[in-house]
Amino acid sequence: MKIAEEFHLDAAAQAYVSYGRLRHDWRLEEVEALFELPFNDLLYRAQTAHRQNFDPNEVQISSLLSIKTGACSEDCAYCPQSARYDTDLKREDVMPLDEVLKAARIAREQGATRFCMGAAWRSPKDRDVERVCEMVEGVKALGLETCVTLGMLTDGQTQRLKASGLDYYNHNLDTSEEFYSKIITTRTYQDRLDTLERVRSAGINVCCGGIVGMGESDRDRAKLLLELANLPKHPESVPINMLVQVEGTPLAGLSKLDPFVFVRTVAVARILMPKSRVRLSAGRTAMSDEIQALCFLAGANSIFYGEKLLTTENPAVDGDRRLFRRLGLRMSGCIDQA
Ligand code: SF4
Repeated sequence: MKIAEEFHLDAAAQAYVSYGRLRHDWRLEEVEALFELPFNDLLYRAQTAHRQNFDPNEVQISSLLSIKTGACSEDCAYCPQSARYDTDLKREDVMPLDEVLKAARIAREQGATRFCMGAAWRSPKDRDVERVCEMVEGVKALGLETCVTLGMLTDGQTQRLKASGLDYYNHNLDTSEEFYSKIITTRTYQDRLDTLERVRSAGINVCCGGIVGMGESDRDRAKLLLELANLPKHPESVPINMLVQVEGTPLAGLSKLDPFVFVRTVAVARILMPKSRVRLSAGRTAMSDEIQALCFLAGANSIFYGEKLLTTENPAVDGDRRLFRRLGLRMSGCIDQA
């Protein structure tokens, strides 16, 4: 608690003044001090920031489809899609356009306003990007926002995706720069930042967050959020994932993160990036309804909806609808909430 005692007032004051304006000059000690606040104080500050920028009872719904599964050359230690790990995952080639559009129609009927498509590539070839652009155009025509995650991109590819109408590009920083090399060795943190910069320059909205529960330290979590908050522009979407441990990956068998630390991570993200959508992403299946409710109280206002998240399980749609009814939450832009 030493840091919190030392910086408590400073962090509290800084967090307060940040409600009305966006800051990109956060200091590590301020972020760590927020993490160390008493739980109730932290949630109060996060909920206050949330209410000043969003309808507190509205949650945006995204749906995520894997359009090319497995056989990835990267070595991300958490990922069952890496070709280096022996998992039960079935590899699948790029999905045909009609199947993608069928999935997008179902997602729209279930209340999604954004359709995200993920492909397990280190970096796509230009011909891959052309196929994805057709998907983006088709999904946009259904009235959905579009997001894709395809790995590292060239300038030409980001411009091509922008021209197809792509709204968001997902590219997570995953963790702090220091811890990154323990999780991924096949590309650098700077590679990630460079792709984010290309996406921004092309005028595409950025979806960028991280994963907690990978054995990182408190400081790594603070540094991840610091890195995101001090980008020249905050990512419009900030997914916060709890590691889903998959048998066969190097991170299977780690001790589980305290769920309250996860809630704290959501709350600090909300305070640092008060106008961004903070998304409660992977790991919800293992979370109780009560912990998810605390995440919404901490400022999470977006979820992935649907029974699969790329290759891992996600809560059933019916269960999410029940939880929303119990909490009096509404899905944004969704008419049918039955
Ligand atoms: S996270 Fe993405 S880049 Fe890393 S192994 Fe999985 S599919 Fe490949």
